[in-house]
Amino acid sequence: MPIAFLPESFTGDPEFHGVDLHMHSTASDGALAPTEVVALCASRGVKLMALTDHDTVAGVSEAAAAASPQGIRLLPGAELSTRWQGVSIHLVALLPQGPRGPLMEGLEVLARARESRAVVIARRMEKAGLENALAKAREQAGSGRPLGRPDFARALVAAGLVPDMATAFRKYLGSGKAGDVKAHWPDLAEVVDWVVAAGGVAVLAHPLRYGLTRRKRGQMLDDFVAAGGQAAELVSGFQNTDVTRDLARQLDERNLYASLGSDFHFPGGHLAPGSMSPVPRTAVLPVWTHPQLAAWLGSDSNMAKTNAMAPGAL
Ligand code: AMP
Ligand code: MN
Ligand code: MN
Ligand code: MN
Repeated sequence: MPIAFLPESFTGDPEFHGVDLHMHSTASDGALAPTEVVALCASRGVKLMALTDHDTVAGVSEAAAAASPQGIRLLPGAELSTRWQGVSIHLVALLPQGPRGPLMEGLEVLARARESRAVVIARRMEKAGLENALAKAREQAGSGRPLGRPDFARALVAAGLVPDMATAFRKYLGSGKAGDVKAHWPDLAEVVDWVVAAGGVAVLAHPLRYGLTRRKRGQMLDDFVAAGGQAAELVSGFQNTDVTRDLARQLDERNLYASLGSDFHFPGGHLAPGSMSPVPRTAVLPVWTHPQLAAWLGSDSNMAKTNAMAPGAL
């Protein structure tokens, strides 16, 4: 059953849809606690949101509890790290039924991978001159959450080895640099399997941000579809309209649904919850019309169920 504020197709109306299906909190590399992300969503008119922290659903139950009184539908989610042909590919898992089945074990696999990867990154950052790199990244994280590359980037800045985060990524942590360690991530197809088996929708995150040629991006989408993937982010934050149109063509050719998200991490930057380029008119269907999500949206009991879950249950 459709929900009142959500269009069933993209008509080219530049008005904001009130949807953001890709955001981060302190459960991974975001700056705001899940409750604060939800509050910001409420103030910005986001009515359907997914919290999609890197490789974890640890923030979801807190977000769900905060979303309900605001009248916001909170879709449990995560942004999962995968590997495809030597490239790190991110997969947004939209999980109307929460994590279950093989995905439970999968999240543990990813948590362990992140831990052992941090040790390798630390070793490489020490070679670059950052002493006690693991301890310093841990200090930057400010909690026991799994470490990510931004924690090492901040440690490099704090140690005065680079002037800012952008330089830290450009010189040490970005694609192809010493700290870009990806051997630990499971194969894209395997992660898609986990998500589909959990009754979720597998969304290929920000397809334009992997530095792939159009042809190679098409191959990635082909393999993703062959593995059972259902959707891709047609709009991720701000992007050129012509590029969006071209990506829409690639999704349309493969019958993929279109998701939308800001990839919000922290306030004060150019992105906020709900901020993203408008979607041009396209035949590609919005991801909220996918049967798995439409069923969840049409049933209020699912929301009650999510919110009734004990903290830590997700
Ligand atoms: P990880 O998940 O540990 O591999 O870290 C990847 C994260 O680093 C991304 O999700 C972004 O939040 C962040 N990131 C990637 N590239 C940059 C960059 N050039 N500047 C700042 N942050 C970045
Ligand atoms: Mn991130
Ligand atoms: Mn990502
Ligand atoms: Mn993200």
